[in-house]
Order: sequence, then C-alpha cells, then structure tokens
Amino acid sequence: MSGRVAVVGAGLGGLSAAVRLAAAGARVTLLEREARPGGRAGRFERDGYAFDTGPTVLTMPGLVAELFALAGEDMGEHLPVRRLDPAYRASFHDGSVLRVRGSVDAMEQEVRDVCGPGEAARFRGFAEHLGRLYRLEYPTFIDRNFRTPLDLVRPQLAALVRLGGLRRLHPLVSTHLRDWRLRRLFTFQAMYAGMSPFRALGVYAVIAYMDTVAGVFFTPGGIHRLPTELAALAGRVGVDVRYRSTVERVEVRGGRATGVRTTDGTFVPADVVVVNPDLPAAYRDLLPPGATPARVRRLRYSPSCVVVHLGLDRPLRGAEHHNIHFARGYRESFDDLLAGRLQRDPSWFLTVPTRGDPALAPPGGEVGFYLLPAPNRQGVVGTQIDWEAQAPREVLAAQRRMEAAGYGPVRDATLVTEVVTPSDWERQGMAAGTPFGASHSLGQTGPFRPRNVAPRVDGVVFVGSGTTPGVGVPMVLVSGRLAAERVAAMIGPSLRWAPRTAAA
Ligand SMILES: Cc1cc2nc3c(=O)[nH]c(=O)nc-3n(C[C@H](O)[C@H](O)[C@H](O)COP(=O)(O)OP(=O)(O)OC[C@H]3O[C@@H](n4cnc5c(N)ncnc54)[C@H](O)[C@@H]3O)c2cc1C
Repeated sequence: MSGRVAVVGAGLGGLSAAVRLAAAGARVTLLEREARPGGRAGRFERDGYAFDTGPTVLTMPGLVAELFALAGEDMGEHLPVRRLDPAYRASFHDGSVLRVRGSVDAMEQEVRDVCGPGEAARFRGFAEHLGRLYRLEYPTFIDRNFRTPLDLVRPQLAALVRLGGLRRLHPLVSTHLRDWRLRRLFTFQAMYAGMSPFRALGVYAVIAYMDTVAGVFFTPGGIHRLPTELAALAGRVGVDVRYRSTVERVEVRGGRATGVRTTDGTFVPADVVVVNPDLPAAYRDLLPPGATPARVRRLRYSPSCVVVHLGLDRPLRGAEHHNIHFARGYRESFDDLLAGRLQRDPSWFLTVPTRGDPALAPPGGEVGFYLLPAPNRQGVVGTQIDWEAQAPREVLAAQRRMEAAGYGPVRDATLVTEVVTPSDWERQGMAAGTPFGASHSLGQTGPFRPRNVAPRVDGVVFVGSGTTPGVGVPMVLVSGRLAAERVAAMIGPSLRWAPRTAAA
C-alpha cells in the first residue's frame, strides 16, 4: 500500500491520529466540515467575548506534548500550559467550601483545615492509592488496542481486583475517606463517564486521579487554542488540512474503503479512512447500510448537558476558574439524570476562563460557562423534554443560581447569552443528543466499547470519544494513537513508528 490516509474530522481525536500518522510518514488528508478545527472543543466570538464551546478542564497535557515531540517540537513554545491552583472550588449545600489544590501537599493542608487531621492523613493514603490504580490501568486498559475481551485476562486483572477497581466507585472511595464532602469530590467525575458513582466501577477513580492529583491546566487563549495549535502542527508535519470539506460518504468497493467523497463531489482516494465524527452517526451517515454492528445500535448513552454561555460586563464575585456547586441530594441528582429527568435539586458547574486569561472578555468583563448536567435524548419513554421551550428557562435559572451562590448581580451584568441544549447537540450530529457519547458501563468499556475498526468494511478505522478508550480530552488523544496503530497495521511496515512515551 502507498500509505494514503484520509482523516474525516479535525476534532481532537482526528488531529491526534493525523499528526501521528503524518509524522510516521503517511500521506494524510484531513477533511473538516467546519471552518476551524476542534469539533466539540470549538469556539465562538461575540461582541468582544470569546467562548470555548466544550471542554474547560484540561488534564494530562503530557499527551499533547507527546504530539509536538513527534515533530521534534516543544509544546511550551506553541501551547504554554499552567497548572491551576485551586483546580476547583467546591461549594456544598451546608455552606462549606473545599478547594481542590494544585499539589497533594497543599490539598492535604486544605483537607486538614476543613475536615480535620484524621481525614488529612487518610487523604494522603487515598491519593497514593489513586496513583497505584492509574499506573496499573493506563497501559493495561486505557492505552491499548484490544483484540478480544480475553486480552483482559492477565495478571493485571487480579491486581486491579486487589486495588478495588471492580468494586463500585462510591463504596471504594468511602473505604478511604470518611468526610461526605470529600467522597463527593472524588466520585462526581463518574458523571463524565456517564455513570452514577453508586453504579460506576472503581476503575473510574482514575478520572479523579487525573484532575485532583495529576492536575488541571489552562492555556492562555482558552482551550480552543489546543485544537488550533494541533491543526497548525498537523500542517507542519505535512497533513493536507482542508476546512469546509464535508464528507458525504466513505467510498467502498468490494468490501474495502477506497477513499471519501465530499458533498461538493471531490473524491479523495485513500488506503485507509480514519473516521472522527460521533461513531454511531458515522456508521449511519457515512458507511454503507448494513455496516453498523448490532451492538452499536443497542448502545446506552451518557447523560447530556445544558451549557449557558454568559458575557458579563463586570467580574463575578469570589469566582475561581472552576467552581462546582453540589446539590443536597447527591445520589438523587444521578438517579434523576439516568431516569431521563431534569435534576430536581441540581448540581452545576461554573467555569470562568477569564480568571486564566482576562483577554477573553472586553476590559473589566468576564466570561461565564455554566454547565448543568441534563438527561440525554434517549431518555425514558414519556420523559422527552421540549428543549426549545426549556432553553430560556435554563438561562434564567442559571443566572438566579449564580446570584444565589453569591457571585453578585448576574442578570443585570449579562451582555451576551447563548444556550446549548441536548437538542442542539443532536443537531450537531451527536447520538442521543449527548456530547459525552456512549456511557462507560462495564458492557461498553475497554474491549466491550465499540471497536476502532469497522468489522464489515476493510480499511475503516474510528477515532474519538465514540470508540476506545472513551470520552474526554485525554482519552480522545489516546484514541488517536490507538487509531494510528490500527492504520499502521493495515498499511504495513512503510511507516516509521515512534516509540511510546508514558503519559505525563
Ligand atoms: C460542553 C462540554 C464540556 C466538556 N468538558 C470536558 C472537560 O472539561 N474535560 C474533558 O476532558 N472533556 C470534556 N468534554 C469532552 C470532550 O470535549 C470530547 O470528549 C472531545 O472533544 C471529543 O473529541 P472527538 O475528536 O471525539 O470528537 P469531535 O470534537 O466531535 O470531532 C469530530 C469532528 O468531525 C467533524 N465532522 C463531523 N462530521 C463530519 C463530516 N461529515 N465531514 C467532515 N467533518 C465532519 C466535526 O465538525 C468535528 O470537528 C466536554 C465536551 C462538551 C461538549
């Protein structure tokens, strides 16, 4: 084979795969339907405010540095990142506040101050336990192409059982920590994986490791700078990046992909096609009928979210970069969402990126990114929500909640408002109206997650949050490596494959 690869989509997954493949010597064409890269990690600008549309919590930047290193470049020169301290400010219904600090030592002190010395000592042991889990899981279960589920049966599985990885997350964390606030702080991340912490497996404690121990980072210019810089890097390593190029279908002849056809009729020939759009939608829209595996049609999805973007004319009082507001009924919040209902007593998040980079707003102004977990559109029969009607109510509720939480006047200070609901995510091509993909239940995780190779069409590889290892910026960057390895196996030995480096 001649090593021609077409990558559909310049999301973080597509970019990660494209950079790796081009750096290894493949001839890569990257086709993106929008005018800019990033996909869910997008950006819109209005009246002098710049809004990131997706991820706000950047973890594991070492995975990004690895991409720059493939081109012999230093990430810091293009994408300087700095660790946030505090990573989060968490507020609880009883009025107490805990800050997730920027180092284990500082966090131990915070726990000592808020929860007492006994809990501080327990926290130290817990952080070490999280580190052990992460070091075991990363090479075994995350950064790995599975051939069959039997690949899992190996000594590491026994070690994982010993570390509690196959127990439920909340009980696992509760054996280490007694304070109810800390238990919430180290389990709510299960929501990112589409699970209740009372149902999720202990393996998902690694998400808590990533953002509470390994750290949360920010880059001046906002998170959208990450795909922008990766797209520029892709250009430098020789990727032919084409924006406003919507792929209509993957061309297939004799059961094998031969390239892609765009909506303007252009044919891009390829030996392998790497597909980044949401996996179930990609099967439905881009591949021939009958290509979709039955398992993909039966997937269950993570809850979704409502995002309210606010451009404010004055600072939010007392806000940190990331702020979490926990509801009184922690378990009930998850029960509501998973049953397809709005949370009756909601937990919500507020990110204020202007705390990291004031230039994202006009002088003296502030950008607020309010995220409310919400049910997806798969829902439960009879619980579908009319989001067109609900959207303005959510804007008002967001502003009122922020005012009640002490951030000062919000309704009077709002100059720009934009609300994104599960209906909008659906319109953007995300299955079940959720940007968080198929949930990470046991039956949809690791070797059971939709595979990154299409079983019925040769030469099609998937990348991104719909396939292995899963959702979120670090996982999607890893999915780029796993996809690139699949491509390399298909194209043959012509690619110069760089040795792996351990994720930072
Ligand atoms: C509101 C929100 C908050 C989030 N918060 C966090 C967070 O704090 N931390 C974190 O780690 N993760 C977070 N995430 C998740 C993270 O953003 C995603 O997991 C990740 O960005 C998904 O990347 P991807 O490459 O899989 O897909 P996408 O970003 O969806 O990329 C797919 C690309 O394909 C393009 N495309 C689609 N169809 C076509 C076509 N036919 N032809 C050409 N191009 C096409 C799209 O335009 C897009 O650019 C958040 C997501 C959202 C939406």
